[in-house]
Amino acid sequence: MIMTEFFYIISQFILLFTTLFLLLFLIYSVIENEKNVIKRTIPLIVLFGLLLSINSLGFTPGLLQITLTILFVVGLFVVVISFGNKNISYKISENKFDERDIMFSRMELVPGTEKFDNYYRRKPQNRQKDNLFRKEPGLLNIGSKFYNPLLFNAAAATFSTVDLLQPLVEGDHVKLPDNINIAELTSFIKSWTIKLGAVDVGFTLLQPHHLYSHTGRGEKYGEEIVLNHKFAIAFTVEMNHESLSFSPKGPIIMESSQQYLNAGTIAVQVAQFIRNIGFDARAHIDANYKLICPIVAQDAGLGTIGRMGLLLTPKLGARVRIGVITTNLNLEINQKPIDSTVIQFCEICKKCAVNCPANAILHDSEKNESIWQPWKINHEKCFTYWCKVGTDCGRCISVCPYSHPDNFIHNIIRWMIKQNPVNRWLALKLDNFFYNDKPALKPIKSWMGLQSGK
Ligand code: SF4
Ligand code: SF4
Repeated sequence: MIMTEFFYIISQFILLFTTLFLLLFLIYSVIENEKNVIKRTIPLIVLFGLLLSINSLGFTPGLLQITLTILFVVGLFVVVISFGNKNISYKISENKFDERDIMFSRMELVPGTEKFDNYYRRKPQNRQKDNLFRKEPGLLNIGSKFYNPLLFNAAAATFSTVDLLQPLVEGDHVKLPDNINIAELTSFIKSWTIKLGAVDVGFTLLQPHHLYSHTGRGEKYGEEIVLNHKFAIAFTVEMNHESLSFSPKGPIIMESSQQYLNAGTIAVQVAQFIRNIGFDARAHIDANYKLICPIVAQDAGLGTIGRMGLLLTPKLGARVRIGVITTNLNLEINQKPIDSTVIQFCEICKKCAVNCPANAILHDSEKNESIWQPWKINHEKCFTYWCKVGTDCGRCISVCPYSHPDNFIHNIIRWMIKQNPVNRWLALKLDNFFYNDKPALKPIKSWMGLQSGK
């Protein structure tokens, strides 16, 4: 009799807990405007609500209550325990990456100029691939597939504002170093950067593989990069979840330009602060980098570079932009090991590869040993697509299960993913069930200029 009562109470608890959890999930999905999730969650709430009512009326056979209890306890045990997490390390390449090989540098080459001819004499293998993006209308240009005069001109205005920051990235430090405690200073820089709008901040030793070999943009094109700073401060700023949900349409480039501006402003402010207290510092901002931001950010413990080649951060996935400041000011560094569970999740997920309209992301699990790019991305295919549609696409970011908002429900799943392979498999199945393995493109908002139909 006592046992029957025990299993009744436990099964009531399980059914009530599941119904309430689904209700909470529904509320979050309404806030996030996830129509597909809402459609799939409501029948589940009705089902569990019915089971709860039947159970409370005493109509559930005892055997079913016992089975439910056992399943719940075993399930809980599997969810909570940590196992099957590998240690992952990558080789650090001796060869630095040349910024002249990035797509933006190649885009800026003007046919018929000496610079253009020199580049393709050195890299003839890129000429044919680059001819493909040159045939397309180009980023933010009229004639591109998602051209929208309002959104594109708003993004162009924001990029022009980023350009105004360029003269401020470097400068002389104004006086001799103040005698400030390193721990206090590191803590101040971290807290202030967050107050300025960053989501997360990390510190690392600046290493040779962080740097480009040669400058690929601007007046210093072709110059060998020499940077004698010892430390790097990396931080992330959030990209708006809703703006990304319209990817690859216009709102994505409006949002990325805005976050380049925010990251640039913060980087310039922090670099100037360090110079004010007597140390050398340089801000690395859009179109003016001496280093590869995702690798620096990974070494500073801000995340792990995933299948799509971008930094996946613990709370926002790839839905961030990165800013970096390098300096000769001594800082307390917080080197963290690479989170292998992200790589293990990417091995089974492939959602970015499946949804990439340019087929630029690898589907298989074969990985490079290189630290800066565990999976090889076909940058030419990706960039040619950008030039065709006029935006920086971002479809891979928008469909990634790590990109969901930073809230209680999604953070539970992020925590589960870290525990073991069973949870990773389950999280992927749930993500595909609720959000679809190929999520539908969302129509843009009316204020964003619907008259263009894009
Ligand atoms: S979509 Fe999946 S495979 Fe791609 S980066 Fe995100 S987690 Fe990794
Ligand atoms: S930005 Fe778009 S085209 Fe480029 S890799 Fe991501 S999904 Fe593919």
